[in-house]
Amino acid sequence: MKAAFVSARSTVMISDTQKPRPGEGELLIKMQSCGICGSDIEKVFGKYGQPSMRLGHEPAGIILEVGPGVVGFKEGDRVFTHHHVPCYLCHYCKHGNETMCPKYYETNLTPCGLAEEYVVPEWNVKHGGVLKIPDSMSFDDAAMIEPLACCIRSWSKFRYTKGDTAAIFGAGPTGLLHLMIAQANEFSKIFCFDVNEFRLDFAKKLGAIAVPATQSTHQVYSETQNRGVDVSIVATSNLKAISDAISITRKGGTIVLFGVPSKGATMEIDMSIVYSKELTISPSYAASDLDTKKSLDLISSNKINAGALITHRYSLDESQRAFEHAHTGQNAMKIIIHRGKD
Ligand SMILES: [Zn+2]
Ligand SMILES: [Zn+2]
Repeated sequence: MKAAFVSARSTVMISDTQKPRPGEGELLIKMQSCGICGSDIEKVFGKYGQPSMRLGHEPAGIILEVGPGVVGFKEGDRVFTHHHVPCYLCHYCKHGNETMCPKYYETNLTPCGLAEEYVVPEWNVKHGGVLKIPDSMSFDDAAMIEPLACCIRSWSKFRYTKGDTAAIFGAGPTGLLHLMIAQANEFSKIFCFDVNEFRLDFAKKLGAIAVPATQSTHQVYSETQNRGVDVSIVATSNLKAISDAISITRKGGTIVLFGVPSKGATMEIDMSIVYSKELTISPSYAASDLDTKKSLDLISSNKINAGALITHRYSLDESQRAFEHAHTGQNAMKIIIHRGKD
């Protein structure tokens, strides 16, 4: 069986590994579609020391084998599988910080989502980490459940209302998922900043006010009655976006830190502005299965057409090329990896 691994910096290797078998309470899944996430790209090309170097955490597929003692799932079920599932009992979970739960980091897919087949651990199977998807939902759409869920989680951390305005820094796949959420919540104006022309164009076609990141952010003020936007979402690792967000977010507004900064990234911030404007800075990491359930609903009810962001598909064998493509972002939005031929 084939699976993708990081074999050296900037190198994704497809190696033949032993076919995993499901143990007590576990499920064996035949992967069909799995997206490449910004954090996967960072694992391959970056230097952010992640707790796990497993590639692919957005997989959807078909249950191939059901381990002894599994209840509620059968061979042939079409599913989205969550790689991390929290305990719901610890101090963090009780405070709504499920993605900070120690159990959350312990749980994972084996060998990883970017594999022809993978095993879902018993904990995930028992605690809501496996979602059956409707027959009408494609596996590509199901691969968008996790990235959308991460965005949804960040939106659960601040207050907003119909007619609000947003600025999104970074018009990549996650930036545009944030755009779609803002639209679903009937925001009146949504600005998208990026340097990449293809991405700006993509954002514009989806209905955003696309602004080249090099351009002054003053347009935002003139279009928001000189208040600034209600919420800024930083969906890039570029730290300049954070200072821009501080300057264009209205008094009392929120800045969501969503893009993963590189390890050791530091910057200078005039904290007197953050204080006097009463800005809330809200970082958001990953998603819990509560978020993935909401995400599945939004996609299956067509309230959010996340699949519209998929521009390229590669087979598992072509993973190296797929990662290079996702890394450069050349004329690409979301890139999905398919299992390929049997
Ligand atoms: Zn992801
Ligand atoms: Zn917990």
